[in-house]
Amino acid sequence: MSEDIQFDVAVIGGGPAGVMAAIRAAQKGARVVLIDKNEQIGRKLMITGNGRCNITQAEFDLPELVAKFGSKGKFLFSAFNLFGPSQLMDFLEGENLKLKVENSGRVFPSSNKSLDVIEVLKKILRDNGITTLMKNAVRDVEIKNSRIERLILKKGAIVAENYILATGGKSYPVTGSDGSGYSLAQKMGHKIVDPRPALTPLEIKNFPLEKSQAISLRGVELNVYQNGKKKFSQSGDLIFTHFGISGPAVLNVSREVGVLLKNGPVEIGLDSKPQLTREKLDEILQKELEKNSAKKIANLSFDFFSPKFWDLILDLAKIDSQINNSRISRKDRHVLIELFKDMRLEVAGLSGFERAMVTAGGIDLKEVDSRNMRSKIVSNLFLVGEVLDLDGPTGGYNLQMCWSSGYLAGENAAEKVLD
Ligand SMILES: Cc1cc2nc3c(=O)[nH]c(=O)nc-3n(C[C@H](O)[C@H](O)[C@H](O)COP(=O)(O)OP(=O)(O)OC[C@H]3O[C@@H](n4cnc5c(N)ncnc54)[C@H](O)[C@@H]3O)c2cc1C
Repeated sequence: MSEDIQFDVAVIGGGPAGVMAAIRAAQKGARVVLIDKNEQIGRKLMITGNGRCNITQAEFDLPELVAKFGSKGKFLFSAFNLFGPSQLMDFLEGENLKLKVENSGRVFPSSNKSLDVIEVLKKILRDNGITTLMKNAVRDVEIKNSRIERLILKKGAIVAENYILATGGKSYPVTGSDGSGYSLAQKMGHKIVDPRPALTPLEIKNFPLEKSQAISLRGVELNVYQNGKKKFSQSGDLIFTHFGISGPAVLNVSREVGVLLKNGPVEIGLDSKPQLTREKLDEILQKELEKNSAKKIANLSFDFFSPKFWDLILDLAKIDSQINNSRISRKDRHVLIELFKDMRLEVAGLSGFERAMVTAGGIDLKEVDSRNMRSKIVSNLFLVGEVLDLDGPTGGYNLQMCWSSGYLAGENAAEKVLD
């Protein structure tokens, strides 16, 4: 490209927020260009939900949905009201993407493949005549009289009436969202609330991580302690990794754990059987030991835990896995029960941006009009998705925030030029 190319709306960033903004602006009749430095749209979207893409949450009550984003949730009222989970689901199903709602309310493509979501989005971009400029990063913006005049790209330049910044946060930078959007916004006069990793796994110390790696547990309870005092609890699924623990229950406590860590060490008490009391568990264990008294403890199999987890428990209990069940004492049983009900994990720290699902912090919401996502500083700029100072819990809420804010901005960015 040697000369500037002209469009009605230029969208910077081809993640879920930017793609939805581009689609909506084009549906309203605007000539739209979507720019991304990656080869394809939706690089991060591809790895969401463990490659299954937890598109949204089936939460159809507006105040409930808004409440999931804490004190900043009210900023999303207009966006969720215009294009919330039910509108998104109708839209995608209308494009022949079959969806399913799991028990937790998490919504996935029926095929369990993120790729299918991306293929549908690509088709909608094509059907709406949207120009896509891939492998081309926006390097700079030229501003005059509080308006963007031109985008300077790695290759060439773009001129548009309105611009939508959808560059994402700083987490998982390998996917393209490396924080460059913050620099662009800052250059245009926007304030950035200090970006921090959020929904992040926890690193654990003094623990046999080689042995525990890849053990996954469903429906556990995490009790978070500081100075011996229980601070709060969280239920959900958990997975041990090579550095510590992850999974929805862990990600959802990471924010509060991060706050506690500033004041001193934090310990997690993992209850892997929250629905059973210690007494009930002992009763079951005792029965199994008696029934299989001639067998080795390593081979004791309950219905409700995996051999790998049992192996870890025996290791932590310092019980020789080759002894017979008949040799397990009352004291041994007590140690085993405690490990099931209150396995202590010392938190070494939060994982950084490399492994965080989302970024907390970002463009200050005070400088954005929540009724249309327009910047209050640069008159022809709209801001959407994770680049904003917004982050929600796991379960599809973060993607819904991106779809909704993108849609609202696309609608308004197109209207202003076509009036
Ligand atoms: C491992 C993982 C799993 C997740 N799972 C889920 C889930 O199941 N459900 C859920 O709700 N959320 C999930 N999330 C969070 C969700 O993926 C993000 O919140 C969402 O992708 C943010 O969308 P976005 O469009 O704002 O930004 P991104 O998806 O980050 O897209 C931003 C795009 O902008 C491009 N870009 C950046 N700077 C420039 C530039 N200067 N020039 C050109 N292009 C640029 C990037 O290349 C990128 O493609 C997950 C996140 C991770 C990391």
